[in-house]
Amino acid sequence: MTDRPEGRARRLSEALAYFFDHVEDIRRQLAEEESRAAVDALLLAVRDDGDVDAAVRRLNARMRAERDALGLYGRTRATGAQLTGIGGTGRGPAVYLCPHRRCLRHHWADDTADASPTCDQDGAPLRLKRL
Ligand SMILES: [Zn+2]
Repeated sequence: MTDRPEGRARRLSEALAYFFDHVEDIRRQLAEEESRAAVDALLLAVRDDGDVDAAVRRLNARMRAERDALGLYGRTRATGAQLTGIGGTGRGPAVYLCPHRRCLRHHWADDTADASPTCDQDGAPLRLKRL
């Protein structure tokens, strides 16, 4: 049952939603270089259309290898995270990412009230990507 494709997609979508909401907390709580590298690898995978699923699983494993018993997947289950954009519409959440693929700046789309977020390096508007 849990392995239905839509179930997997939903799990991944929820894990990503949690990740982008808490990325700085997650990074702060990770002690090992390899774990923080997994955070950056996931940001890169999302930004560069890489293997996001594998990057989420890698980070989840690193979180659990450190003292986080829940990991990324367990945390979304535990909180029953329901974020805007996930659910009835069938569309994933959206996040703003660097248009040049240079910096790792990102901005959760729901957080942006007025101005569009911009690149750290040249101030160009970030591009909106639906996950
Ligand atoms: Zn940038």
